[in-house]
Amino acid sequence: MTFESLNLSADIVAAVTELGYTQPTPIQQQSIPFILQGHDLLAGAQTGTGKTAAFALPLLQRLSEQHAEGPRHIRALILTPTRELAAQIDENIRAYAKNISVQSTVIFGGVGMNPQINRIAKGVDILVATPGRLLDLHGQGHVDLSHVEYLVLDEADRMLDMGFIHDVRKVLAVLPEEKQSLLFSATFSDEIKQLANGLLKNPQHIQV
Ligand code: AMP
Repeated sequence: MTFESLNLSADIVAAVTELGYTQPTPIQQQSIPFILQGHDLLAGAQTGTGKTAAFALPLLQRLSEQHAEGPRHIRALILTPTRELAAQIDENIRAYAKNISVQSTVIFGGVGMNPQINRIAKGVDILVATPGRLLDLHGQGHVDLSHVEYLVLDEADRMLDMGFIHDVRKVLAVLPEEKQSLLFSATFSDEIKQLANGLLKNPQHIQV
């Protein structure tokens, strides 16, 4: 199977080819068609399986197809537990998006807020965030989540293990009801299942 056969645009395929990806990994083969079709997704996957591209490539495809004129709004929100993961996801997305007009940035705690606030103010389509810093900046009025169309909960089990469940629920509570949601987790405790049941609508299930 090839990336072209997954209906990704030539610009996106060129970017991943340049990164040395010759063919989609199993999770990419399974998830990309569902995400492009607009389904919610519950995916069991460990890190290292290519799960970042599994959600990022179809989101970039959809965002680039539907790019409206005027100022950019945050249309995709990716929540992830640690600053390292957040930075890595943002870096990957920017590499995948190098040939298209979709902008990503990242926010996480432990560093100054002002550069993050200034970057968001310039306009982004995708925000990668850890939950605590997102709530801080949202509470201060620096992050508008009212245009979010796509939500990814990455490493949801780690997010809960690290005690972020309340923060995650607070974020979910301020997002638009109508959106496409994707939940990735290596394990599925009752708490994860509960979170997934509350969030996902008729999700497709995949497991790699
Ligand atoms: P992830 O599971 O998203 O952290 O990805 C693990 C590693 O695999 C990262 O270094 C990616 O750049 C790389 N990767 C993702 N998809 C592919 C692919 N289709 N072919 C080769 N490498 C990939």
